[in-house]
Amino acid sequence: MTLESVPDRYAVIGNPIQHSKSPQVHALFAQQTRQAICYERLLAPVDRFADSVHEFVAQGGRGANVTVPFKLEAFVLAQELTPRAKAAGAINTLSFSAAGIKGDNTDGIGLVRDITQNAGVQLKNRLVLLLGAGGAARGVILPLIEENITSLVIANRTQPRAMELAQQFFHSGAPVSSAAFDQLDQRFDVIINATSASLDSELPPLPDCVFGPQTLAYDMMYGAQPTIFMQHAAQRGTAVRDGLGMLIEQAAESFFVWRGIRPETALVYRWLRGQL
Ligand code: NDP
Repeated sequence: MTLESVPDRYAVIGNPIQHSKSPQVHALFAQQTRQAICYERLLAPVDRFADSVHEFVAQGGRGANVTVPFKLEAFVLAQELTPRAKAAGAINTLSFSAAGIKGDNTDGIGLVRDITQNAGVQLKNRLVLLLGAGGAARGVILPLIEENITSLVIANRTQPRAMELAQQFFHSGAPVSSAAFDQLDQRFDVIINATSASLDSELPPLPDCVFGPQTLAYDMMYGAQPTIFMQHAAQRGTAVRDGLGMLIEQAAESFFVWRGIRPETALVYRWLRGQL
């Protein structure tokens, strides 16, 4: 494929979608790797996700990212699933071919790469606390386990959801458990906020003992300013990081899934940080 060819079509599908930064990120990846693609935002009505995907495929779409609130519907729609998509129970990357619709999940590997490669924090032999039990939390559990962490504790506002999620992985022998916020009584090496609490400027009710001077507190949310969770953690002496790197790394993995080429992410990160 050359730059003169008709570009292959990709999209990010969600509702709302206007805020999505994925088109800019993928345009930069395409430019850098000289891939002829176009990548657009697709607003799907909340009750017409499957129809919207089929219409996009009929128009020649080659792949799509899926965002809120459709990641679970995408899981049902996909005819083939990668192992990491199966473990996540949610899809953020669809690939379309004559064989049908294939679902993948690149959120988890995006988080792991941002922590280990970009932040330089190793996960092997570490105690990890995961806050939240929604789609984002589900997607990162298997990739975290695969880094050979010592243990993963899941805490969530609605505790039965955390218990259910932990049991799903515990059954396969993974070091995963759940705890209520007020049961947390140890320091963690890495704390990952996969709740949407920061969106409402709210904090998960964490006891101070979970934070230590060697802790990395990671919020999947990102913005021009540190999130309330990052501010809270920094006041307790920890290193902090937001989810912008995860956003770019999950996009890079989707790009790799579709095009077989892994783009460089550091420059894109710096550019997007400057745009926030
Ligand atoms: P979901 O709606 O699926 O899950 C939300 C989670 O947050 C649930 O566990 C919910 O708990 C919890 N929660 C919501 N409000 C509060 C609160 N006030 N206090 C404590 N817990 C709360 O969302 P997602 O999992 O899809 O997304 C979560 C976050 O991750 C979002 O901010 C999203 O933007 C971010 N994200 C970032 C990505 C990136 O690339 N940087 C990729 C994917 C997601 P309960 O079960 O009790 O309702």
